[in-house]
Amino acid sequence: MKTALYPGAFDPVHNGHIDIASRAALIFDELVVGVYDTPAKQTTFSVSERVQLMREALSEWPNIHVASYSGLTVNYARQVGATVVVRGLRVYSDFELEYQMALANRKLAPEMDLICLMTSLQYSFLSSTIVKEIAKLGGCVDGMVPSHVALALSRKYHGDAVTSAKP
Ligand code: ADP
Repeated sequence: MKTALYPGAFDPVHNGHIDIASRAALIFDELVVGVYDTPAKQTTFSVSERVQLMREALSEWPNIHVASYSGLTVNYARQVGATVVVRGLRVYSDFELEYQMALANRKLAPEMDLICLMTSLQYSFLSSTIVKEIAKLGGCVDGMVPSHVALALSRKYHGDAVTSAKP
């Protein structure tokens, strides 16, 4: 049984994340999506909100499990029995960061490997930051995030459920 860990802040989950997770779930027997509880950047959604939004987004995939974690990613990977860490790559700048992290993680856990999946073209522009910026300014995030995430964003920024009224 091959288990992989897909770690991230997921603040909040968007369709680019779902694309990577669902494709990784086809490669591995089990995929654990690890929601990092205290990323360097302050988060908009609490860790329990991020986990809940991710669980709902991935509920159709029986071999994907979602949980929060703290501390070193490699330690959490070991804890869940993962031998591979999965990350998504959008642009060249993602590669530089992932490469650096991969080498640092390799030093900490030589048995762990990193697999990077290339983003699907239609999600290459997506980031949680962009999605939040659009939602905050009242723009439509349909097609970028699942509907329950659009609702959560709308509630967070406008205290209501309007997600696509303004083009
Ligand atoms: P980070 O973990 O770097 O704080 P995120 O939580 O947003 O950032 O992303 C988690 C993982 O998903 C990272 O590997 C990131 O590169 C990847 N990712 C983010 N956006 C996309 C996208 N649009 N397409 C593919 N992968 C993505």
